[in-house]
Amino acid sequence: MVMSTVNIFLPSRVAGTNIYLLRFVKGNGEQVTVKVAINGYGTIGKRVADAVSLQDDMEIVGVTKTRPTFEARLAVSKGFDLYVAIPENIPSFEEAGITVKGTLEDLLGICDVVVDCTPGKEGVNNLERYRKFGVKAIFQGGEKHENIGMSFNSLSNYHENLGIDYTRVVSCNTTGLARTIYPLVKEFGVKKVYATMVRRGPDPNNSKKGPVNAIVPVLKVPSHHGPDLKTVIHDLDIDTMAVAVPTTLMHLHCNVVELGREATSEEVIKVWEKTPRVTFVDGGEGIVSTAQIMEMAKDLKRDRSDLNEITVWKDGVHVVGNTLYYYQAIHQESDVVPENVDCIRAMFRLTEDNLGSIEKTNRALGIN
Ligand code: NAD
Repeated sequence: MVMSTVNIFLPSRVAGTNIYLLRFVKGNGEQVTVKVAINGYGTIGKRVADAVSLQDDMEIVGVTKTRPTFEARLAVSKGFDLYVAIPENIPSFEEAGITVKGTLEDLLGICDVVVDCTPGKEGVNNLERYRKFGVKAIFQGGEKHENIGMSFNSLSNYHENLGIDYTRVVSCNTTGLARTIYPLVKEFGVKKVYATMVRRGPDPNNSKKGPVNAIVPVLKVPSHHGPDLKTVIHDLDIDTMAVAVPTTLMHLHCNVVELGREATSEEVIKVWEKTPRVTFVDGGEGIVSTAQIMEMAKDLKRDRSDLNEITVWKDGVHVVGNTLYYYQAIHQESDVVPENVDCIRAMFRLTEDNLGSIEKTNRALGIN
């Protein structure tokens, strides 16, 4: 059974706010944090591990690697207990002088939830194992919604994930679409969205994939992004197209939205100014491409130069009648990271207030 050691919850106030969080309380009265395992300490996994470590209501109890790479050494040097996802590979860690605590199964024996950050389409293969160990599990956007049964976005469907055992944080692109479109649905109503995703080729650390000198269209319409967004904003009418381009920095979306009523650019900007994890840049100030956005992220001195927020060009927001046109950029390696933290809170009902969780996560990560 999931969470067998914990039986009641106690509200505690977040300092300086009116937010109350529920902490687990064991039978003996001891308050405990949620014990989180990371399976797959790669691009997303290592970021989620750091983000969870910065929260006071959850802790990392271990991370896994398949091979003794530099990331395995990084995990140990950061103080994380390291477990081996493929038991036969334990000797190679020993040969490399990297201390391991045990296997993935050992880790599953001591955690409350596993954040599965294995490569896309591999996570689903672990679902039965997580079930067997009675641990909750969060999967990532590389898995299909149908295989997991639930999807998550902090803003649009936190409430649907309260207390749930298995879910999936939607992909970086879908998270980006949800962040800017959901507040439009709430404020103006949305009749129809047409969105074109200009996708980075691989992540910056990936020297094997392209495209190197081509633009690659997704010939199926809609691309998977539209249907994926409907897993977290159910009644949305959206069509999407996508192309992959030779860049590693960010994705860029060109979006057209038919609003439910006539509006002005200023009204739309005001709505997004109030929206967490959406930030503005200005072409007039010299931020005319994803290159300058990433330079700005370096100047912000966030961990790894990440930019967890979705970036909208303020001077690229145009409304004609009820049709909104805008551009947004997505830092694919980091926008889903705070969502994973909020997702843990929803699954353990640490707070039922999504905005409270978002605020708490943001404060810990230095967002906004
Ligand atoms: P990654 O390749 O950078 O990291 C995956 C990690 O899992 C690696 O450390 C790899 O060694 C490890 N691994 C491989 N097979 C394993 C196994 N069987 N058991 C345990 N670990 C295993 O991948 P990523 O970019 O972090 O992607 C992880 C998930 O996050 C995917 O579903 C992906 O679609 C999704 N995602 C990725 C991005 C992105 O831009 N990188 C953005 C959003 C969501």
